[in-house]
Order: sequence, then C-alpha cells, then structure tokens
Amino acid sequence: MPNEQTDTLVVGGGQAGIAMSEHLGKAGIPHLVLEKDRIAEAWRTARWDGLVANGPAWHDRFPGLEFRDCDPDGFPAKQAVAEYLADYAAMIDAPIRCGVEVLGAERIEGAGHFRVETSDGVVEAKNIVCATGAFQQPVIPPVVPQDALVTQIHSYDYKNPDQLAAGAVMVVGAGSSGAQIAQELMLAGREVYLSIGAHDRPPRAYRGRDYCWWLGVLGLWDVASMAPGTEHVTIAVSGAQGGQTVDFRRLAAQGMILVGMTQAYEKGVLSFADDLAGNIAAGDANYLDLLDAADAYAARHGLDLPEEPEARMIGPDPACLTDPLRMLDLAQAGITTILWATGYARDYGWLKVDVFDEHGAPRHQRGVSVEPGVFFLGLPWQSRRGSSFIWGVWHDAKHLADHIHTQRKYLDYHEGAARKATA
Ligand SMILES: Cc1cc2nc3c(=O)[nH]c(=O)nc-3n(C[C@H](O)[C@H](O)[C@H](O)COP(=O)(O)OP(=O)(O)OC[C@H]3O[C@@H](n4cnc5c(N)ncnc54)[C@H](O)[C@@H]3O)c2cc1C
Repeated sequence: MPNEQTDTLVVGGGQAGIAMSEHLGKAGIPHLVLEKDRIAEAWRTARWDGLVANGPAWHDRFPGLEFRDCDPDGFPAKQAVAEYLADYAAMIDAPIRCGVEVLGAERIEGAGHFRVETSDGVVEAKNIVCATGAFQQPVIPPVVPQDALVTQIHSYDYKNPDQLAAGAVMVVGAGSSGAQIAQELMLAGREVYLSIGAHDRPPRAYRGRDYCWWLGVLGLWDVASMAPGTEHVTIAVSGAQGGQTVDFRRLAAQGMILVGMTQAYEKGVLSFADDLAGNIAAGDANYLDLLDAADAYAARHGLDLPEEPEARMIGPDPACLTDPLRMLDLAQAGITTILWATGYARDYGWLKVDVFDEHGAPRHQRGVSVEPGVFFLGLPWQSRRGSSFIWGVWHDAKHLADHIHTQRKYLDYHEGAARKATA
C-alpha cells in the first residue's frame, strides 16, 4: 500500500495543533493533525482535578469562540478548557486523527519530504509542525534519593489531597502549580511547607481589571524576550477560589510554613538556601511595579477606574519569614510526601533531524527552525511572553502558516518560458 501523503503534518492535538490547523486551513494548505491520545489530552488527564484556568474566560481563549456556560470574568475548570478546545476543533473542522502516535520522523534526502512513522502507518509530509507541548517530561531535581523514607511525586502526577498518604506535605516550587497545590492541600487540612524560589506575582486584579488586561494594555504579553541580564522566573498566579492574588504572607498567616529554595538532603534532613526573605521581597517588588505601571497607564489615558490604595498594603512578615528554617528533619516534622512542582523538560526524541542545540533546545526563529520544513509551536517565549498560553499560540500559529504559504509559492515558481508553454 502506498504511504499516505500530506503537505503539512502537525504533531499534537492540543491548543497548538488546533490553532495550527485553523491557520493552515484558512491558507488552503493540505494538512493532517496526529494526536496520540485525545484532543487536549493534557487538560484532561495531565493536571490535577481542581485546576482552573489561570486567566479569565474572556482572555484565555482563541479569538473565534467564547467559552460556553462560563462567566467571561470567571476561570474555567480544566475540563471546560478541554471541551472548549474540542468544540473549537469541531467548529473549524480540523483534520485531527486521534489515537495515532508519531514514533519517528526523518528527512528523505533528495525526495523533498519527511518520512514519518506513526503507530498507524507511514505518512510522507513536506513540512512538520511539532506541537507536542512545552510541558512534556516532569522534572524532579536530584536532591532526595529515591530510596529515602518519604514519598516523592511531581505536580504532573498530583490529582487531589486524598491521593497523598496522611501527614504533612513539603511542596517544592512556588510557581502557579506549586502555589495552587500548596493552598489546596492546606485548605484540605494538611500541614504544608512551601519552598519558594524566585518568582513574579502580579496582582490577580487591580482597580477593577484582571492582571491579564493590564499586561495586555501595557504591552507586556508582547515583550519579545526577557530583559538582558534577567532570567526567566516562574509566575505565581491563580484562578482558584474565584481568583485571588498569590500572597505568600497571607498563606503563612493561615498556617503554611514558608522556606527558601530546597538545596540538599542528608539522612532524613532537608536544607534550604538563605534566600526566602530575598525571594519574597523580589516578588513584592514585581507586584508593586505592576501597580505603578497600571497607575501610570490609567493617568496617562485618563481612565476612570476606582482607586485601590489598599492593594499597596503588604501584610506583616510572618515568623517563618523573619526567622526562616534552614534545616528540617522530615520525620520529626511528620512529612510523608515531597511534592515537586519544579517544572518540565521537552521531549522531541521522535524527531531525527538536526535542529537542536547542545542542550536539546530547538534552534529556531519564531518557530521556524534552522531545517527548512521543520517548525515548532507552543514553546515558551517562542515569539513573545504570551507564546505558550492559549491565546498566544494562536498568533504564533498564524505566523507559521504564513511562512509555509510563502514557501509553497516559491516552490510553485516556474520559469517564464515554462509558464508560457503551459499557458
Ligand atoms: C498546570 C498547568 C496549567 C496551565 N494553565 C494555563 C492557563 O490557565 N492558561 C493558559 O493559557 N495556559 C496554561 N498553561 C500553559 C499551556 O496553555 C498548556 O500547557 C497547554 O496545554 C499547552 O498546549 P500545547 O498544545 O502546546 O501542548 P499540549 O496541551 O501538551 O498538547 C500536546 C499534545 O501532543 C500530543 N503528543 C505528544 N507527543 C505526541 C506524539 N509523538 N504523537 C502524537 N501526539 C503527541 C499530546 O498527547 C498532547 O495532546 C498551563 C500549563 C500547565 C502545565
């Protein structure tokens, strides 16, 4: 049987794959999307039960469809996000084939296409768009040995508080996942320790507008790269409990014990860096900077938004901040679980093409890789800060589709004589 052929093969049927399909379809480019599980599988099964979107429904969506049955200012549950994406795929009639895994892809030299091996046969494609997600392989730093007498899980495998053995929990990492899971565990009655590194923590809302709105009008979602000399830090935001600012002092006042970066483990004792106060202070500065920028914007544009001076009141420092723990005997503290909310690594093991640097990162410009015909979508900071978010990926997909369309026109070029002869 001959191999199946298509112009552009999109690997992955999450939001990136769906956005790509929409733009390829609009440009009239024949394509196929292969998804190894179901549409938006990551939103269905790879995240905890109580997760809601971090951005409000009016913002964290594609331009062409609103969430159904959801207050635009509310935060859709993860299942609603998955349904939204499936509805969207149906609305645009995306050619997605579910349950088909891409196992390998390589260029066939001299043939002008890639040979893509899948769990359901071989596909030949002129272009490949890797839309398999930036959050693929859970990463647990090698701090605590696997045979230590404490259960270790990654936030990827966390579902709900009942899943964890009785006892206190040490949550490592205070980005959106760590901060939200730590709060969920505390509200479920667990004693919780939270290990906090460098982070940004924008206000959930200020002067009646969500932070997503402020970042939009201030142009901060469109920032193309991090400021020189700065490192990417995690962002602690939450739509849980109706949407609240992540305020570590408030969590401490409610009983959570904050510690610095987790550094080492020896004989049942965890040790922490002396950086808690500094990390909290930097998070506060980031929070206050955004309030300043928002006020300046409101004044400049004459916006009639309610003043909110109380947003600038930072609560008192809790004892765990003024006199931070540097060592913690896990057994003595009754800690039975360490939950690592420490992020993810990429995994493009199936792509046998020379497009990666020495760290395994794709070499690309706005998703267009150094290898003609290979594209990436959904990478953090692919073209701007918003790139890995639902709405941001839609714009990056448009750029890639435009690029593929232009390349197709070049390849369609015929010399003048040949054109005349066929006229
Ligand atoms: C905990 C968490 C919360 C988040 N919350 C938000 C939020 O509130 N708002 C927001 O805008 N963003 C949020 N994000 C960021 C981002 O929107 C999501 O990670 C989103 O799922 C990324 O979409 P994607 O399509 O790039 O990747 P994914 O959703 O991971 O989709 C990739 C798809 O590719 C498939 N796949 C992988 N390998 C293969 C293969 N070899 N063959 C075929 N198929 C394959 C997978 O099954 C998967 O369905 C969150 C991320 C995390 C981790």
